[in-house]
Amino acid sequence: MHSLGLLLVVASLAQAPSAPSTMGAKPPEGAVALFDGKGLEGWVGRNGKPAEWPVTDGLFTVGKGDILTEKTFSDFQLHLEFQTPYMPKATGQGRGNSGVYLQGIHELQILDSYGLKLQDNDCGAIYKQIIPSVNACKPPLQWQTYDITFHAAKFDGSKLVKKARLTVIQNGQSIIDDKEIVPTPGGVTLKDGEPGPLLLQDHGNTVQFRNIWIKPL
Ligand code: MG
Repeated sequence: MHSLGLLLVVASLAQAPSAPSTMGAKPPEGAVALFDGKGLEGWVGRNGKPAEWPVTDGLFTVGKGDILTEKTFSDFQLHLEFQTPYMPKATGQGRGNSGVYLQGIHELQILDSYGLKLQDNDCGAIYKQIIPSVNACKPPLQWQTYDITFHAAKFDGSKLVKKARLTVIQNGQSIIDDKEIVPTPGGVTLKDGEPGPLLLQDHGNTVQFRNIWIKPL
């Protein structure tokens, strides 16, 4: 075998292990469907009024203002599907930006980061905190999955005993493996560790979502 061929074989073996796709996964027992393809009942704007993002054909599109769940959560497993829009003239944080705020305070970034060397503000990053270990992003206009396991921070009175912990699998590839996180900018006003909503960010780009469910742990 030529050395280039060997190099390619070694490179492919070195990729992160991939799990089966969870695209279209149904809510498991004990899970709550947060979007069943029909409407945004249970979601509100930051003003507390019903969410008004457009819902069409089993999906919804980022509209005006952030939206959040009325229900709040502590430790959970979350499944979410999203796709970024095609914005060939845009770059960086202006290309397919949205985000999922876990417990309302930790932003897991959504961005068109296909094929890029990832930074701490790219898709799959905990914003300005954790760079994903591998780029698992698909191109714009392709559905992607996030499968998230989140454990809330633990406090003893006002003393932080244990930081929040997070595992993220994007499109079947582990990108964040049981890492400690602290709150990121831009979320809701809530103390770390308190039960919080799921918040989806309006960053001015028409990111789309479907099939979202959450299972309290
Ligand atoms: Mg964002």
